[in-house]
Amino acid sequence: MSFAKPIVLGNWKMNGLKSEGLALAGALAEKATKPSGTLGVFPPATLIDSVRRRLEGTEILVGGQDCHDRNSGAFTGSISPLMLADCGAEIVLIGHSERRHGLNEDDDLIARKVHAALGAGLDVVLCVGETEDEYLSGKQQERLRVQLAAAVPEIAGSDNFLVAYEPVWAIGTGRTPSVDEIGATHGFIRERLAELVSSAPAMGILYGGSVKPSNASEILLIPDVDGVLIGGASLDANDFWSIYAAGGGT
Ligand code: PEP
Repeated sequence: MSFAKPIVLGNWKMNGLKSEGLALAGALAEKATKPSGTLGVFPPATLIDSVRRRLEGTEILVGGQDCHDRNSGAFTGSISPLMLADCGAEIVLIGHSERRHGLNEDDDLIARKVHAALGAGLDVVLCVGETEDEYLSGKQQERLRVQLAAAVPEIAGSDNFLVAYEPVWAIGTGRTPSVDEIGATHGFIRERLAELVSSAPAMGILYGGSVKPSNASEILLIPDVDGVLIGGASLDANDFWSIYAAGGGT
């Protein structure tokens, strides 16, 4: 699909029982039937189907938070990209830091998941970002270069692939890089993408990490920031909407 800007995506993580997820989706549906930009939510897998139904008739995207790198098989507890697509997900997060660092997912596995997801017809949000140690020791760019080279396939286009830059140390901590740092890093990511895919100039690059209504407009004004991936603040429909509106979304 084409991703109109601002692109504002909400990762609900492991939050939301059915009643809460449906209430949140319902509140969003009341705010925007046909958003001018791109709005998307990533509920827990248990809620994808019901949230998708609740959002029927709107253009708000529903996605999965992760998928396996195979479409079926003896992988107890896992969810395949084909299963996500089958229950109505259109897009999937891959390489979120809570999976890279909490569950030891490496760049090879993430690359395989990207291929499997695109093969199942899902769009992909590839999450990349350096740890605090890498940031402090000047290894940020090297880390991002490796993550991108490993997992941005040649077939990635601006209509099926987004990159989310999420410094690990900024996720859920209330800390963010400065506006200048985010701008420089997004410029660096776009340059690396240009080495990998022809669609780099038009590919959406999102910032993620402690985005809130209070810092959204300065972040969304940064050149090369095409949108944001939001964790905590996406669980409140008013906060999520204010962030989207701060980027000019209606
Ligand atoms: C995230 O989990 O992708 C994220 C950016 O979280 P938060 O907004 O809570 O920092």
